[in-house]
Amino acid sequence: MDKKEDMIAKIKEAGLTGRGGAGFPTGVKWEMVKSQKADKKYIICNGSEGEPGVFKDKYLLEKYPEVVVEGIKIALETVDHSLAYIYLNKEYYKQFSKKLEKLCDGLPIVIFEKKWGYLGGEETAVCEVIEGKRPIVRKKPPFPGESGLWGFPTLVNNVETFYHVGRIKEGNFKNTKFFCVSGDVKKECVWEFPAEYTIRQVLEETGNFPEFDFFVQAGGGASGEILLPSELDQEICGASSIIIFNKEKTDPYELMRKWAEFFLEENCDKCVPCREGVYRISEMVKTEKLDREFLNELFFVLENTSFCSLGRGVAVPFRSLINKVL
Ligand code: SF4
Repeated sequence: MDKKEDMIAKIKEAGLTGRGGAGFPTGVKWEMVKSQKADKKYIICNGSEGEPGVFKDKYLLEKYPEVVVEGIKIALETVDHSLAYIYLNKEYYKQFSKKLEKLCDGLPIVIFEKKWGYLGGEETAVCEVIEGKRPIVRKKPPFPGESGLWGFPTLVNNVETFYHVGRIKEGNFKNTKFFCVSGDVKKECVWEFPAEYTIRQVLEETGNFPEFDFFVQAGGGASGEILLPSELDQEICGASSIIIFNKEKTDPYELMRKWAEFFLEENCDKCVPCREGVYRISEMVKTEKLDREFLNELFFVLENTSFCSLGRGVAVPFRSLINKVL
């Protein structure tokens, strides 16, 4: 076994899965890119966090940028003939690009500023943006691992995933995850816990389990599901974010209007179900007159016919809030 295969074997053995939300096994992804026959290959470290309540990559770029860069370096050594991009949203670019440039000095790594919103963080949209185009999601397959940037095999992982690869190399990986806790809390914070921790464990161990009547939004401040206190004995899907809402102080319609604005602003208008569906939802939450039967049909259409995960995920927060809180 050569050194490159050895690193992939170590990642597989560690059981690392992508920390961007999809949870795909990292070692399998790396192996797929490595096994492609191509003159060029690319690596993208995705630091484009754009959903409210998600700020763990920011925390890692602030506290441990050298470990993140170490993870990218390992990817460069493992995937031959490659060039890497660190893809950052505007705020992170402003804050971290100088420090990262210093850390990457002499390495084939480009620090790239994302000029677009949330959708520009989806892995195929990232490829479009780096190629100088609008962030339009590509049809999959082919996956970026087979055909990504300019048609070449491209390994896309987020900041936290590269951070953990760096920790595997150091022999210091403990299968942890970074959790963002925000909302009605004393202080917004990022915490590191075992990956399998439940929402209840995270809230209890951080001293954030509310004494007031509450609900949470887990997995992202737009696309995350609303959960009641009786539903917290589960792991978080999607981004590891938990937002706490004081039930008495939260206006559910105001919350839904915020989500609707987010999706109206961030969708790309490419496909009818998402473009029209989000518009209809936003009109309904504005008037505060919900036609539940119509909404159920709309959610079904969004989930089953939208082109990308943004449109497919729109129903989750609205449906769970309407069914559980209203
Ligand atoms: S689902 Fe929404 S964001 Fe995705 S391609 Fe369609 S319009 Fe664009």
